[in-house]
Amino acid sequence: MISCLQQDNVRLPEELNTTEPQRQALGSTLQSQLEGVEPKLSDQAQELNRLCSELGTTDLEKHLEILVLENDRLKQELNGCQLQLQQLRLSLSGCTGCQHSKENAQLREQTTDLQLELGEKTQLLAKLQQHLQDVLQDKTEREERLNKRIRDCHLALAKQPTSSVKYITKKVEVESPRTKQDLEETQGRNHYLQEQIVIQRRLLAEQEQQLQDSWRTSAQLQAQIMMYEAELERTRGELLEAFQAMEDEKNQAIEEVFLQARTEMKTVHENLNGVRMNLLSIQPALKTLTSDYNCLKNHARDFPCLLQDAVNQTKREIYQAVEEVQKTNQDLLRKYKREMQLRKKCHNELVRLRGNIRVLCRVRPVNQDDGTGLETRNIISFDSDDESVLYVSHRGKISMFELDKVFQPHAVQTDIFQEVQALITSCIDGYNVCIFAYGQTGSGKTYTMEGSPEDPGINQRALRLLFGEVAERSTDWDLTITVSMAEIYNETLRNLLAKDPNEKLEIKLSPDGSGQLYVPGLIQIRVQSVDDINKVFELGRVNRATDFTNVNERSSRSHALLIVSVSGINLTSGVRTTGKLNLVDLAGSERVGKSGAEGPRLREAQNINKSLLALGDVICALRSKQPYIPFRNSKLTYLLQDSLSGDSKTLMMVQVSPMEKNVNETVCSLKFAQRVRSVELGAVVRRAENHYSSRQDYELESPSQATQQGRFNISHSGGKTTAGKRRLMASGEVNHRQGSAALPAL
Ligand code: ADP
Ligand code: MG
Repeated sequence: MISCLQQDNVRLPEELNTTEPQRQALGSTLQSQLEGVEPKLSDQAQELNRLCSELGTTDLEKHLEILVLENDRLKQELNGCQLQLQQLRLSLSGCTGCQHSKENAQLREQTTDLQLELGEKTQLLAKLQQHLQDVLQDKTEREERLNKRIRDCHLALAKQPTSSVKYITKKVEVESPRTKQDLEETQGRNHYLQEQIVIQRRLLAEQEQQLQDSWRTSAQLQAQIMMYEAELERTRGELLEAFQAMEDEKNQAIEEVFLQARTEMKTVHENLNGVRMNLLSIQPALKTLTSDYNCLKNHARDFPCLLQDAVNQTKREIYQAVEEVQKTNQDLLRKYKREMQLRKKCHNELVRLRGNIRVLCRVRPVNQDDGTGLETRNIISFDSDDESVLYVSHRGKISMFELDKVFQPHAVQTDIFQEVQALITSCIDGYNVCIFAYGQTGSGKTYTMEGSPEDPGINQRALRLLFGEVAERSTDWDLTITVSMAEIYNETLRNLLAKDPNEKLEIKLSPDGSGQLYVPGLIQIRVQSVDDINKVFELGRVNRATDFTNVNERSSRSHALLIVSVSGINLTSGVRTTGKLNLVDLAGSERVGKSGAEGPRLREAQNINKSLLALGDVICALRSKQPYIPFRNSKLTYLLQDSLSGDSKTLMMVQVSPMEKNVNETVCSLKFAQRVRSVELGAVVRRAENHYSSRQDYELESPSQATQQGRFNISHSGGKTTAGKRRLMASGEVNHRQGSAALPAL
């Protein structure tokens, strides 16, 4: 516009020079028009100033400032409230877990919620403030723009009248038509300016409209702020109420606690008084206790020494007691040994008194193999008060038999062994012992002597007992046990432990002139354990069965001998002993010869009869104290001469069957047993030697000499010395009775 005006300024003087009168008239018109425009301009300026003044310090800004101040104040108040709350919390921190603390916690939660709400509102307020500031800044910018434009207009106006006047004046003066044209142009320009003013006014109206909008917004904001203020006020009121309530509760709690503490204090005081009283009464007891404690302390100090003394004393007493016990034990042992000796003496005396042949009877039980029927009917009964008798019912009569002891069918192997074990141990002491099992086939001889592996008989039990005895006496004695096994079949002696069992053995006189018999080639095996025994027995069993498919068959027709020799040296005195234990399972005693058997069976039967008769004859001769004892009438008696003669112990186990069908043989066996029992062999003599005496001495010495030397006397009711007889027997100078004599002659 300025450049346009300048151009006009250059162009106008030229025109002015041309139309001076026109210029003057136009000048006056323009002057009048200018005069009309000027008041309008001043009006506009006034209006603008008013608007500016209206826009300058707005209520909104003031209100904003007030709000900020109010906000600051509220914040301060909030801080104060929080401080008070903290103090309140601190004061209430002592009271935990009670109703107040719970309420306090609730209030705290409420306060936290309110704080959160307040925070949200504060944030909203901050946003509003920001928005207000933005609006204000926008308004300020617009004002500045308007002011600038107004200033520009003023400048343009200030410049324009002078130049126009000059120009017009010039035009009027120089050229009137041109002035007229200029005037028109000026009028056009004036019109344009007026349009500009209209535009400016419209802009102003718009500005006014915007201002009104801002006002409205401001009013809304103000309303919101008011609302927030009200909210804040309400929150503050709630906080204050809560605070007041808390304060009240705190006071109440403090009061309650105080009251409680006072009552407790009272109780404590009362207790204290009681304790004081107690203390006063306890004091003497305390004094006593203190002195007791001191006394105990002294005792405790001395206790280890006392304990040590007591322990030492007790130890001494225990040692003493142990020594005494040991002494007593030794005494008892000595007494026991003496007792055992005495027992043995008594036993021997008993044997001597009873006669040295003991006869026992064992009745075997009826078993399944015996079948059923009348024939298996039991014909034997017993006396419950007397274990030495039994009754046999035969052909309507009841016969009584008396023996040393009768074992009923229910007797077991241990019962039998208990009865014979004293006899067995006596062979360690140097006695010769002979145990026979006599009876018909099937009466239980082998069962009693051998038994079964699970329930062994006398043989194995005897050897076990001897092992035990040997071990027990090992401190004083060096004892050796040897075993031989032989069989007499058809008057032939067979060595059952030899490689060739069919090799015949002969019984010979000892070449040392002692009169003793011995069997050259009879194998003796030393045994030390049950294993050894089992091996020996097995060998014997195998050899015995060589010629027979049925062992029982052979067993019933031959005599089986187990000869156990025990020799020993006393380690202190040097005394030597030799004892022999003969365990004989005799052949069946049934009278086969009478039943018309022929051939080898008849020969067997004759031989069995012969040997059993010879046994009976020997026992009879011994019983009747005959000068001649027919030992040599059979291999059996000849071999067992030592064990049957006067210095030996003999036990006959007569086996019988209880069944009707065996009654004849049962009666025969029992008659034989009863007669054998009544035979007296004379007092037993122990076979003992020492370094200065020998068997030869024994054979020749007189009874009085034997007694003087501390040995057992040989008792003979006939009053004759035995030495001559012995020599006679030993040299075989005896009458041989041929074995045709019948057994019942016994
Ligand atoms: P022997 O040797 O006299 O011919 P055994 O000893 O062979 O007779 O006995 C014949 C049967 O009787 C065998 O089966 C044996 O087991 C049985 N026996 C014998 N005595 C008894 C007993 N006391 N207890 C049980 N069974 C026995
Ligand atoms: Mg048998």
